[in-house]
Amino acid sequence: MWTEIAKEISQATGKPFEIKDRRSVGGGSINQSYAITDGTETYFLKFNSASEYEMFAAEAVGLKEMYDTHTIRIPQPICWGTTDNAAYIVMEWLEFGRGGGSQVWEAMGEQLAEMHRKGVAEQFGWHRNNTIGSTPQINTWMDNWADFFAEHRIGYQVRLAKRRGGNYPDTKKVVEKVREVLADHHPQPSLVHGDLWGGNAAVTKEGEPVILDPATYYGDREVDIAMSELFGGFPAAFYQGYNAAWELDAGYKQRKDLYNLYHILNHFNLFGGGYGSQASRMIDRLMKD
Ligand code: ADP
Repeated sequence: MWTEIAKEISQATGKPFEIKDRRSVGGGSINQSYAITDGTETYFLKFNSASEYEMFAAEAVGLKEMYDTHTIRIPQPICWGTTDNAAYIVMEWLEFGRGGGSQVWEAMGEQLAEMHRKGVAEQFGWHRNNTIGSTPQINTWMDNWADFFAEHRIGYQVRLAKRRGGNYPDTKKVVEKVREVLADHHPQPSLVHGDLWGGNAAVTKEGEPVILDPATYYGDREVDIAMSELFGGFPAAFYQGYNAAWELDAGYKQRKDLYNLYHILNHFNLFGGGYGSQASRMIDRLMKD
């Protein structure tokens, strides 16, 4: 497996590469990760069972699409595929530092706003489905954001949650309500990270903001800001930087919980536990509005 991956790297970069050393990297939630090096070049390698090939292919294409906006540092994908019984993705190795001061977080906000502004599509969705955590994420193109978010985001997760034993109102009624709440909101379809919690934002040793491990699609840019606030929030400088570069609409505060309901439902579908009742409370509030 290792030799085959090294060969693929050589082919992708056009430079001979042999793995002289490999070191396991912790911190991931789903995959096994390694730093692999020939003593000069180092790459980041993640692998999983062969059935996860699609997940890595979508991650690589998503990273590339974000990388191509040249707005915020993204690890550049090198190659991906299957070998023996494993699927893998190789990307540029980034040396992370210990977080950064407020200037770095301000830059992260500004640069994310630039990615949202420059990465534009004509519709909401993406040219392929991907995953959020390991849950499928449906990206079929749609003209209308309210329809897209109601059906492909909330509706899809509510259906899964019910199958998992969650006790929620009729899916159609929830979808209808989401559509109603978002009916007058017409954002541009922006390239979003899609899974922007603290673990997917980092700072290099040189102090450059980085975002990684995305669940990319074209959607309302507010979904990234909402998720950044979900588990404790990013430093205040991040929001200052973002708003200075591209101010959020006044209605963001009303939409924030609805956007985060998607992630809470997904956490219930992935991990179960208290996320089920948290989602239930959020849905009750939504239905009463
Ligand atoms: P998973 O998909 O399993 O959740 P992640 O993509 O979150 O894995 O990566 C796991 C860990 O590896 C991260 O917490 C991060 O510290 C490190 N990491 C991720 N990408 C890179 C990279 N390009 N270079 C160096 N380290 C990385």
